[in-house]
Amino acid sequence: MEQEQGAVRVWFASGNTHKRLELSRILTGVMLKGPADGGIGDFDPPETGTSFLENALLKAGALRRALTERGIFDPVLADDSGLCVDALGGRPGIYSARYRGRAGVLPGGTTLESAERNRLLLEELGDRTERAARFVCAMVLLFDENRFVCVQETLEGEIAGSRGEGGFGYDPILYLPALGRTVAELGDDEKNRLSHRAKAGKAIAKILSCQS
Ligand code: IMP
Repeated sequence: MEQEQGAVRVWFASGNTHKRLELSRILTGVMLKGPADGGIGDFDPPETGTSFLENALLKAGALRRALTERGIFDPVLADDSGLCVDALGGRPGIYSARYRGRAGVLPGGTTLESAERNRLLLEELGDRTERAARFVCAMVLLFDENRFVCVQETLEGEIAGSRGEGGFGYDPILYLPALGRTVAELGDDEKNRLSHRAKAGKAIAKILSCQS
């Protein structure tokens, strides 16, 4: 993940290495730092918002404050993302990382393994014919407390039986009819061309290129 000299430095408000890797491939010319690079261990602010956008703003604000305390004033990037399933009224949505099926989200920050979450989601959906679902990504680029830009994007698909080894999280169960594959069956570059995070990241990249 090494970046060229002179690149604009941006701090990404997440410890999720999959997301950071995906984003660093989209934000070319950006030196994408994680909380740990600034000496901020265990960065995991409470996601108490009621929307992806609110949660992204909460994460960005939390990292901004922690960096400010350390004398760092670079822009901060944050995202909040998840899977929204129409037949489940949009769930797991903002609770995607903590989903545990019919019984609801897990308390605190506890999470299940992805494969187990996917199994529970398929079980909850059962044989319902309505399969439409999408990944959603809200992304916030925060310059300071009062200056930020937001973008929200989707990757539309259908819930299908688990297939594929690539990606992470719910990738194996989101099937893309136009491609005849699940997201986990896409190559990294392919996912990075069409994913919710890629689309949002590209919009942010354009804004960053105007700043540099
Ligand atoms: P966040 O880190 O709070 O945004 O949680 C996002 C959760 O949504 C992840 O833990 C995954 O379960 C799910 N998710 C978000 N984006 C993706 C993706 O691109 N593929 C698969 N699952 C995703």
